[in-house]
Amino acid sequence: MPRCRLEVYKKAFIPDTVGKWNSLSLEIRITSIAIKKKQIKISPSSPPANNSYGQPYLNIIHTKLRHSCIFNNDLYRKIIIASPNCICGHLEDACHFFFVCKSYSLLSMKLFFSMNCFSLMI
Ligand SMILES: [Zn+2]
Repeated sequence: MPRCRLEVYKKAFIPDTVGKWNSLSLEIRITSIAIKKKQIKISPSSPPANNSYGQPYLNIIHTKLRHSCIFNNDLYRKIIIASPNCICGHLEDACHFFFVCKSYSLLSMKLFFSMNCFSLMI
């Protein structure tokens, strides 16, 4: 039993728990530890298959798009960069990047062509 000068401190969590633990018989304490060790040795289950589907780099980009943290306007709102503008001078958000900006039109066309092929596969 830990030494406790005050009755209030004696009823606090740690002194009270230690006192109760020490009052158990040695057989019960050893059994309890063995049960705890068994519980700790349980290996974690493998993650769901959809958590590792596809290429990691593309999954990162997809997650950044979903959480609005890839375009200049998103980064500007989070006070990460100084300007929300695109290299063409307009506000850079998802709509501007994919549908308006002439600087990224070639990339957008490639993306839409690949999506069209993808929609035919569905
Ligand atoms: Zn632009």
